[in-house]
Amino acid sequence: MLKENLASVEANIRSACEKSGRNRTDVTLIAVSKTKPVEMLKEVYDAGIRNFGENKVQEICEKYDKLPSDIQWHMIGHLQRNKVKQIIDKVCMIHSVDTYRLAEEINVQAKKHNLIMPILIEINIADEQTKYGVKKEDAVLLAEEISHLDNLRIQGVMAVAPYVENPEENRHYFREIMKLAVDIERKKLDNTDIRVLSMGMTGDYMVAVEEGATMVRVGTGIFGERSYANK
Ligand SMILES: *Cc1c(COP(=O)(O)O)cnc(C)c1O
Repeated sequence: MLKENLASVEANIRSACEKSGRNRTDVTLIAVSKTKPVEMLKEVYDAGIRNFGENKVQEICEKYDKLPSDIQWHMIGHLQRNKVKQIIDKVCMIHSVDTYRLAEEINVQAKKHNLIMPILIEINIADEQTKYGVKKEDAVLLAEEISHLDNLRIQGVMAVAPYVENPEENRHYFREIMKLAVDIERKKLDNTDIRVLSMGMTGDYMVAVEEGATMVRVGTGIFGERSYANK
């Protein structure tokens, strides 16, 4: 079943690329595996996926040891400062940086491990109360502040668009996210190399790809509905 799901997500990404004149290789599919057992991740891994997204530190740590070491783990969820040290040497990118204080702690831990951590600025693009992320009007300023931290690389922006029935309703948000990334790029900041637009989920990733997403985060579309019953 997972193989079929993956094949249809892949076909959808391809057609969105074709429609918008983009190369398939410019879009990375991140399989969002939160709440799913390692057996299912293994199945998706065996089908060729190497990028996985998780939103909880504990879950990354548990799965990390049980799965092949060539997996690229993406931290996509809200991150508490006191937990940064647990994942600093396990993830390839932190998508959810929305305060200077969090960036500062990631910088401290990255320095300790002698590594440079790629990060994205998370933007609360629709200004939703229930969501994390910096307000869009504060995004460039936050990037400017963070750019002084030498053990981070600001590689782009991430956003979770609203839940909508018709993905077309989110198209204008994806355009705004792209514009904010361009605004940050134009500042020519230190420690900044804008190349990632992490946007688009199961309900709207095709529209996101048409609007320039370079990373789409697809959970339900690959693994099926999540059940939080036992959690
Ligand atoms: C859960 C989650 C996703 C995936 O959502 P689906 O709708 O299941 O594809 C993507 N991004 C973030 C930040 C998430 O927490």
